[in-house]
Amino acid sequence: MPQTADRTEGITGSPTLALAAKAKALAKAGKPVLDFTAGEPDFPTPQAVKAAAVKAIEQNCTKYTPVAGIPELRQAIANDLHRRLGDPIKYAAAEVMVSCGAKHALYNALQVLCDPGDEVIVLAPYWVSYEPLVRLAGAAPVFVETREADGFQPDPAAVKRTITSKTRAIILNSPSNPTGAVIEESRLKALAAALKGARADDSLCIISDEIYDQIVFPPARARSIVQVDPTLIDRTILVNGVSKSYSMTGWRIGYAAGPKNVIDAMINLQSHSTSNPASISQYAALEAITGDQREVQRMAGEFQRRRDALVGGLNEIPGLSCFNPQGAFYAWCNISGLKQPADAIAARWLEDALIATVPGEGFGSREHVRFSFATSLPTIEEALQRLAKWAGERRR
Ligand code: PMP
Ligand code: GLU
Repeated sequence: MPQTADRTEGITGSPTLALAAKAKALAKAGKPVLDFTAGEPDFPTPQAVKAAAVKAIEQNCTKYTPVAGIPELRQAIANDLHRRLGDPIKYAAAEVMVSCGAKHALYNALQVLCDPGDEVIVLAPYWVSYEPLVRLAGAAPVFVETREADGFQPDPAAVKRTITSKTRAIILNSPSNPTGAVIEESRLKALAAALKGARADDSLCIISDEIYDQIVFPPARARSIVQVDPTLIDRTILVNGVSKSYSMTGWRIGYAAGPKNVIDAMINLQSHSTSNPASISQYAALEAITGDQREVQRMAGEFQRRRDALVGGLNEIPGLSCFNPQGAFYAWCNISGLKQPADAIAARWLEDALIATVPGEGFGSREHVRFSFATSLPTIEEALQRLAKWAGERRR
């Protein structure tokens, strides 16, 4: 059997994708499974976006494009960031690159920033891919816990204590997958001050994963670290994409905006791996970003109604308590009252009640199970009934 390279050692497949596939297979086999695994909106891609893609095909926009994306899309992303983040946040099109999903933008960023032996600070709980992405870049993840009692807000003093001469970057993710926490403006400011205080030059970078920034539930407001401290723009790689806001997970378009030398290195790296992201998807993303934005708000409103139903219902079930997410579409449910680790509970729920969730272990917690509420209200109501029944039978 051929050996695989050391750097792939211990890298397992994404548990979220694997569990979503398992739930889909069960449903296909005719089981009435309720699927809370998928981290993707259940709405169709907006009609105008689909039409733009059809038009792109018909107009033969089917060739290689520039590696970093078509100029119109790079400019549209720069304009959109300015529209949404406001003055003084202005990126030139040359400071933006388009990649095959936000995951690929993160991969590119970490590959060009990290050397072997470097450290990257990751706030826990964290999205499942951060650790493997950091390790694949030869660096070591260093975890800084956020506490449920503190609303999963980062502790700037704890972050500062963790910074060493080897720290190359910190990854921020607000709204967060899996907790749904939105970092408050005051915390972001304190965090910005801590980062600058720890290293005055720009050798400590911030990777700000803002993929859920348009799925936020008022009165919460998502702010980017570059908004609260614009001086950090020179060392921040802002990552975003169309997957979540526009329900376009399968189109694979994400982007990064940041210092030109880092973006250029990412483009060069991409030129030898995927080349450009799919041309048709780029035209679709252009329509998504520049077209009518009402669909984005409609979907966010729908997620809020589902959050209220799911989180309210989970909190009534004995043994469960659920943090109220302010953004994204995940309920991070504390199951410590059930006195079993998360993977055991998630397995029980799947077996006993045909409810598919993602156990917290892959996100750094044995005490939580993640429910994605990118699913219909009737599915949520049915799941709450099944869980109440399950909890009742368990107590007998
Ligand atoms: N960051 C986070 C926090 C995510 O949850 C996801 C979802 N997969 C991504 C990045 C990657 O998104 P994309 O589908 O654009 O690669
Ligand atoms: N980000 C989504 C999730 O957390 C999609 C799956 C993945 O990319 O890992 O479920």
